[in-house]
Amino acid sequence: MTDSSVCPKCGDTIPERGPTWPFCSKRCSDADLMGWFSGEYCLSRDITEEDFADPAVAQAFAEKLGTLDPYDPRFS
Ligand SMILES: [Zn+2]
Repeated sequence: MTDSSVCPKCGDTIPERGPTWPFCSKRCSDADLMGWFSGEYCLSRDITEEDFADPAVAQAFAEKLGTLDPYDPRFS
């Protein structure tokens, strides 16, 4: 574990792996997610089923979807 203790959004050190990992806070996690929605980030290739073969990836994806609120005014 090297980079996993530093928030990829703000660079703060993360003391332990919490619910917002790999980000330091929900604020940074949401800010990163908004980057995807706004088109700031994009995928360099199509997603395939093999991408979800890793249980950790599939679980992280499911957890991220579970945090979305479709009625959040930021998404309208
Ligand atoms: Zn952060």
